[in-house]
Amino acid sequence: MQRQLPTDSDDKPRDECGVFGVYGHPDAPRLCYIGLYALQHRGQESAGIVASQGSSFSQHRGMGLVDEVFSDGSLDRVVGPLAIGHNRYSTSGTSTLQNAQPFVAQYSRGPLAIAHNGNLVNAFHIRRQMEAQGQIFMTESDTEVFAGLLGRSLHYHLEGRIIDALKELRGAYSMLCMGKNVLVAVRDPSGFRPLWIGEVDGATMFASETCAIDAVNGTAIREVEPGEMVIVTESGMESMFLPMEAQTSHCVFELLYLARTDSVIFGESVAARRLAFGRRLAQEAPADADIVVGMPESANVAALGYSQESGIPLQFGIARNQYVGRTFIQPKQSDRDFKVGVKINAIRAILDGQRVVLVDDSLQRGTTLRSSVKKMRVAGATAVHVRIAAPPTQWPCFYGVDTPTRQELMASNHGLEEIRKYIRADSLGYLTTESMLSCVSKPDDYCTACFDGQYPVAFEEQNLNQLSIDFSRDRDR
Ligand code: SF4
Repeated sequence: MQRQLPTDSDDKPRDECGVFGVYGHPDAPRLCYIGLYALQHRGQESAGIVASQGSSFSQHRGMGLVDEVFSDGSLDRVVGPLAIGHNRYSTSGTSTLQNAQPFVAQYSRGPLAIAHNGNLVNAFHIRRQMEAQGQIFMTESDTEVFAGLLGRSLHYHLEGRIIDALKELRGAYSMLCMGKNVLVAVRDPSGFRPLWIGEVDGATMFASETCAIDAVNGTAIREVEPGEMVIVTESGMESMFLPMEAQTSHCVFELLYLARTDSVIFGESVAARRLAFGRRLAQEAPADADIVVGMPESANVAALGYSQESGIPLQFGIARNQYVGRTFIQPKQSDRDFKVGVKINAIRAILDGQRVVLVDDSLQRGTTLRSSVKKMRVAGATAVHVRIAAPPTQWPCFYGVDTPTRQELMASNHGLEEIRKYIRADSLGYLTTESMLSCVSKPDDYCTACFDGQYPVAFEEQNLNQLSIDFSRDRDR
């Protein structure tokens, strides 16, 4: 089946989802809409909002960007002071309306809605067991497995059911669960994905990133801790911790590329960390050049850091067409190359006669960089030195980020010189994992599995076809 591309380049990792929820505000669905709009970078395939009026839920979900999904006035039909919303990019289940979230179901105590960012790595196995026992599933999503386990629990309160279900499941989840009169936010014990608590007009809200809290003129209070569950009812806010423990393993790719530059996550300013990555890159991989150019938009801050550290002036030598993406279809490599060519263009007035340091924030397949380097040369650049403000990406992610398979990841089976030749650069340099971690406050609290293959949470056999290798070694850190 052909699939529409999201707006991000297909040569980048993609976050699976963004979540936003509000408890106790007359405009809760509208706040969700604004919050999801701010989180659009975390998922562009579908969006949805579900609201509770106590006795009943109203909802609207659709395929596409947030403004497309709600362009028909459907937001007016989603009513209630309690609401959750979700942006989706699929890594578990196909890109269909059926799999769009928030997931809505009925259990013994009434309606339930779930918005999930992450990936449950043993959901497939549990789903098979449940199917063998007669359970019917309506979607392909791992979130429905969680909902099914929750429905089986004998606990009276929603939070007890959530704990029972999560005891069975492993992986990444920053999740919002809404009952008739309760909103629960829960984050996995590793803390892979971000999740914030905020406040607006006296109402409590939750968001994947602070940029969404800022967007509704709210105040960011604190992050939901790894393994913490926060329950909001008319009695107020209560916190408890899941009975499972794990080494904290925040996704370092959130800081490198996935999160919005203006957000704060894992106690770090994303912009400050990207600046530090760029500075460190300039120390570790210097280049003899006239100008520094960042791959727009995500690598611009790292390029600024490189420029500040090296003393080489920053110039904006690449133009990016913001509107390419969703109108392109991705059935094969040739179309992907065409899309890159339309999306990126080099600016002759800036590049002509210049030796350029081109800074990017990751290299996955290398297709975007290969096309960009070629365009820069055509525009008159006399040398293009590519610098990546991250280590070589060699391993796929199973914790809620869509990455190419191990076979497709260029650095997993090619050396530095082979990659340099492929992208047609004069030189190529990366950050080392150690250097990258030296730029964050708590280096031991990060997952770096896509760089070193040290997966912090064991995963199931059906994932191994992405690796194409014997991966019986060392799955637990
Ligand atoms: S494997 Fe990579 S992308 Fe996935 S959680 Fe770990 S650092 Fe993030």
